[in-house]
Amino acid sequence: MKKRDLSKITDKVCALTFDDGPSEITPLVLDVLEKYNATASFFIVGHNVFRYPENADTMRRAVEMGCTIENHTYGHKNLRDMDYDDLLANFYATQYVVNKVIGEEPIYFRAPGGGANELVYKTIPLPFMIGDCGSADWNSREDDPATSDLETRVAGILRVAHDGHIMLMHDNAGNHITPKALDKALDKLSKDGYTFVNLRELFEIKGITPKAGECYQWVDVYNPETGEPTFRV
Ligand SMILES: [Zn+2]
Repeated sequence: MKKRDLSKITDKVCALTFDDGPSEITPLVLDVLEKYNATASFFIVGHNVFRYPENADTMRRAVEMGCTIENHTYGHKNLRDMDYDDLLANFYATQYVVNKVIGEEPIYFRAPGGGANELVYKTIPLPFMIGDCGSADWNSREDDPATSDLETRVAGILRVAHDGHIMLMHDNAGNHITPKALDKALDKLSKDGYTFVNLRELFEIKGITPKAGECYQWVDVYNPETGEPTFRV
């Protein structure tokens, strides 16, 4: 992955992460990231690249911009229903697909729907990333104003953003509202002094080395629920 000079980043940082792509929405997300000199981490579903080869070009563009590609399983199925063999097959199929396209395997994992159990944590040999999106931005149903309204999504992003935050959003197919919400939110947050980074940059800046089998929802001394200085859940 392309390395940026992080030494000049002294302001608040927020890691941007996108799940469920790549899709036709991902280039729109990349356009917004370019506008704000931002990077992000994309937790991809391997099937989306295997089935739609044009998405491989999008992944290469993301990496060229300094973004990272991470593992969100091959078929986006509930991991809690799987046995050891199925878990490994779902995990390694995406490691393989990403390596084939960009020449490097993912180093972080995110479970579909955040669903995991003891077997999942023991089997997947990478750190688990969680994050918080502030709104159900994967739901692109036009008839559901609670989740499809642009301003609601912007407000959701702004509500949870803080220094060391892992922002969770979705670049799933058909989700045209999220790139628009991202544009508005980054405009406001950059005026508030935020720099937007990918996950690997966030951990490097904060001096943390994530460990396999542990979950990370945010870093730095901020826990929105308890105010405790914690970065693991
Ligand atoms: Zn997902």
